[in-house]
Amino acid sequence: MLITDAKIEFSDQPAIIQHVSIPEKCPHCGKNMSPRIYSGFSEDSYDYWDKNHNHHNGTKQKFCIVLQCVLCNSFYLGNFKADQFDSYGKILNYGYIEVSYIPPISNDIPENVSEISERFSGIYNQSLKAKEYGLTEIYGMGLRKSLEFLVKDFAIYLSKLNSDDSAKIDSIKAQSLGQVISSNFREFSNFSKLFQSASWIGNDETHYVRKHPEKDAEFLNSLIKVLANNVSNTVIEQEAMKLVDDN
Ligand SMILES: [Zn+2]
Repeated sequence: MLITDAKIEFSDQPAIIQHVSIPEKCPHCGKNMSPRIYSGFSEDSYDYWDKNHNHHNGTKQKFCIVLQCVLCNSFYLGNFKADQFDSYGKILNYGYIEVSYIPPISNDIPENVSEISERFSGIYNQSLKAKEYGLTEIYGMGLRKSLEFLVKDFAIYLSKLNSDDSAKIDSIKAQSLGQVISSNFREFSNFSKLFQSASWIGNDETHYVRKHPEKDAEFLNSLIKVLANNVSNTVIEQEAMKLVDDN
């Protein structure tokens, strides 16, 4: 970290000189250096007492400083947020905020799917992020992993509906994806075939030789979306049936 002073200009108050710690790694070329430091800017008021001795708390204050790498000459922003205060609420320190310029990834997966498989949603989102970065090989492998969590967690969900048999749940967790598919979805014959085809394409994404070269990761993604919608519908149907059965 490079500790330095920077001038911060505010929209509604006089500029201040602020002590800040700036990472020395350039986010563009990845090399360490001491960047050129230009002005900082903020819309947020800072912590101060006005002439009537009223305290104005700047606890949510953020500012950014324009920086330039001295090696590749690219510009970037150092972002800071007030993160340490004394007992009177006065700001003691500003923490550096790591910023990613990749926009958030949105997906078409219904929200209630994450209620039965939080890991599926997380891994699926990471797969979409890999694709956004151009990591197409990792994308397919991530989809295959997300599929395994969706299948197993859905099998566990169905198992819990019938009985809370912990031995059965442990066996689902330990089984291979193929075993879980062949032994758990008899009452959902369409699911079985969709799960089966998704697992075949998923395996192609992780193995040296493709058994189904005409299908790719995009097809796997389409299958996963259909499956997630089916899982979502089943969860809603089960809730509706339980409501009727309990009354
Ligand atoms: Zn650089």
